[in-house]
Amino acid sequence: MLAAGKLPYIDIESSCNSTRVEINAVAQSMDRLNIGLMALSADIGKNQFGKGVRFDNLSNKLLASHPDRFIPVGNGGQPPALTEATDEFLDAQETAARKKHIMLFGEFEFRHYPSPRQAKRGDTDRDVHVPIDGPIGHRVFGLSEKIGIPFQIHYEIEDDLLAPLEKMLEQYPKAKVIWCHLAQIRYIERANRYTAVYIDSLIKRFPNLYFDTAFGDPTSVYPPSNQRHARVWTAIGGIKSEWRELIVAYPKRFLSALDLGQDRIDRIAEYDQKHRNFLTRLPTETQHQVAYRSAWSLLFGEEFA
Ligand SMILES: [Zn+2]
Repeated sequence: MLAAGKLPYIDIESSCNSTRVEINAVAQSMDRLNIGLMALSADIGKNQFGKGVRFDNLSNKLLASHPDRFIPVGNGGQPPALTEATDEFLDAQETAARKKHIMLFGEFEFRHYPSPRQAKRGDTDRDVHVPIDGPIGHRVFGLSEKIGIPFQIHYEIEDDLLAPLEKMLEQYPKAKVIWCHLAQIRYIERANRYTAVYIDSLIKRFPNLYFDTAFGDPTSVYPPSNQRHARVWTAIGGIKSEWRELIVAYPKRFLSALDLGQDRIDRIAEYDQKHRNFLTRLPTETQHQVAYRSAWSLLFGEEFA
């Protein structure tokens, strides 16, 4: 892709329902859109959970059919699996990691408001709060530290939630944490402390903290608050200078991501275009770092060459 003058990227955070995803169609879209690799995790939904599934081996299937396109990743950490069968679920993720069947843990939802689509449907299923400094948090941070592979967190931005996260980052300095959805603030009145200066301070304090750049476009609105929740954007659709400068200063800490889900996986072209619109706002060198070099060195422990 690089040789053809294209900018490939590594999507570090997408998920799907493994019983419904059409793997070949996703792979074909990736080729068409110059998406280099994708960490496509399986969410164990209520149905699968009810059937006793505690680990979904989608990654094995993806690697068997398309080893050059997918990063093997664990399952999305969300209810009911995470909260109602915690030990079984986490034991299975740990086993997969120890056997090197996965090189990244999925996105753990510690604080998750209903998604915009769920909110529109009045669905509060994913109004999740699992204390990050509670038993599940300690287990997940500890796993990453012991095994040495990264995990992703979905952690809504609220003033009161920052101290517990900082405490965990301090206690587990070797845990590799990808905080998904940079600057996605659903309710600005709950988030006075989260600024580019604050993130700069976290980056300096915590060398193993990363951020993915899956967020809405400049006009995206979170319906429950009626606010434009992707705060990196200016009103006219550029990147605010403080966020741009932060990413340019620490490009190794920022990762490309699409955040596809099963309900939007067929909209991959639209998500790709939005993400590329963001990338093109960065200097060329930074684009290449954020698009694939950061994920490459995080996952493979070496510089992309
Ligand atoms: Zn998320």
